[in-house]
Amino acid sequence: MTNLTKYLHQQMDKEAGIQHTHHRTKIVATVGPACDTYEKLLDLVRAGVNVFRLNFSHGSHEDKAQIIEHIRNINSTEPYNIAILGDLQGPKLRVGEIENNYLPLAIGDILTFTNTKCIGNLEKIYVSYPNLADDVKVGNIIMIDDGKIEVKVVDITKEKDVKVQVTLGGVLSSKKGINLPDTKISLPALTEKDLIDLEFIIEQKLDWVALSFVRSVKDIVILRNKLDEKKSKTKIIAKIEKPEALVNIRDIILESDAIMIARGDLGVELPVEQVPLIQRELIRKCIHRAKPVIVATQMMESMIDRTKPNRSEITDVANAVLEGADAVMLSGETAAGNHPTLVVETMCKIIRQVEQTEYRYNREEDLKPLSHSPSFLSDAVCYNACKISKDLNANALVGMTQSGYTAFMLSSYRPESPVYIFTKERSLVNQLSLSWGVRAFFYNEEESLDNIVTDQINILKQRGFLQTGDVVVNTGSTPIHLHLPTNVIKVTKVD
Ligand code: ATP
Ligand code: MG
Ligand code: MG
Repeated sequence: MTNLTKYLHQQMDKEAGIQHTHHRTKIVATVGPACDTYEKLLDLVRAGVNVFRLNFSHGSHEDKAQIIEHIRNINSTEPYNIAILGDLQGPKLRVGEIENNYLPLAIGDILTFTNTKCIGNLEKIYVSYPNLADDVKVGNIIMIDDGKIEVKVVDITKEKDVKVQVTLGGVLSSKKGINLPDTKISLPALTEKDLIDLEFIIEQKLDWVALSFVRSVKDIVILRNKLDEKKSKTKIIAKIEKPEALVNIRDIILESDAIMIARGDLGVELPVEQVPLIQRELIRKCIHRAKPVIVATQMMESMIDRTKPNRSEITDVANAVLEGADAVMLSGETAAGNHPTLVVETMCKIIRQVEQTEYRYNREEDLKPLSHSPSFLSDAVCYNACKISKDLNANALVGMTQSGYTAFMLSSYRPESPVYIFTKERSLVNQLSLSWGVRAFFYNEEESLDNIVTDQINILKQRGFLQTGDVVVNTGSTPIHLHLPTNVIKVTKVD
């Protein structure tokens, strides 16, 4: 372990009087009944959570408003900037409520999917898709709960009920998702429910909004326009879980602010063996475009019940770190599992173990800034700031941003030096919690670049992130009042 990496993993926040777990690959945790009190959320933050995800497929706006308040209280009383991500359900089909939330299904069982609301049991199960009977054909496969249960259509009745036979058994609980890999679904990108949820997300000023089942770049543009209409600063995550999205992936990445590799539905919509290489390729593409990328679903699934992860899960998390993902995500593990805090602690340990070795992700040197990009000049400044910080074994790489661009750019080079970002855009301070290795600070002085650099170094020194003798690489822009893209690199020895 080099001195720098050792230092990196023992970040003492002097001002706050606490030791931060400085993992550079961020952790996103889904909030649900297993962790929705102030104390439990704070435990998760202390264990290493950087972003909380609220899944709008589950729970009410009332519950969510309460959770949001808890997280905002944590941010204002504790030394953290936790981001909140609102995840829109999108055009997803689901079963309704299930009797006692428990319905064991065995191979050969015949079930009836109906379009009329009811509490589901072996006789009838409600499915939230009015066109189901018109769209499916006898022989079609229907997958339930990310493919854990499979059924085959055996009959479509005059009353538009769909009779199916179980081909892969399991226990069905309420509101589980349904995929029709053989069928094209004719639903809009933003359903009526999504529009209502989006209004809530905008009102609550959530940091990120994720759009499920993105099929084309148009879906992102529609969402972007809705946000712009309301002058919302919420940033967009495109969830990649449809084969159609992969065809248009370049444009989708460019139009979105971040990407989520939603492996649950992706592994049902596509042959599951294709998921690992799609993950690898998507991470590579996002890093190249400086867009944060999240690896999601079943990362520590066995810890929903158990206290130790499977060996394959440990390797899965480690591989996502090695591939350079910005963040890894927990779903049911924290939302509905038995050991939410232990899962986060375990995930954090795996991340740090990989990051402190020479095997940590190193961005290939040949991924130089793109000369045809409109931001080529500032991209080149960021690229070289990262190179200098590497050559100098710098203890900090400091950037300033108003749009977030410089932060995402510096982070995308995955530099060894810790990245500190100063911004006067309050919304960015939390948003940047998703971005690999970034710690952000609110800062709105703009006297002169000389003063700003000294001031920022002093702030980092006071907090305990820097010491006398340390080397710092600052980026900024001058003349200061023009707010130009990053155009300066300065090297300082801290005194
Ligand atoms: P998606 O397709 O959007 O991922 P999901 O149903 O798979 O939807 P996840 O957020 O991936 O949901 O996983 C969360 C798990 O926790 C689900 O199994 C869900 O049933 C359970 N859960 C129960 N209550 C909640 C809640 N209020 N919020 C989130 N998840 C909940
Ligand atoms: Mg899921
Ligand atoms: Mg999903």
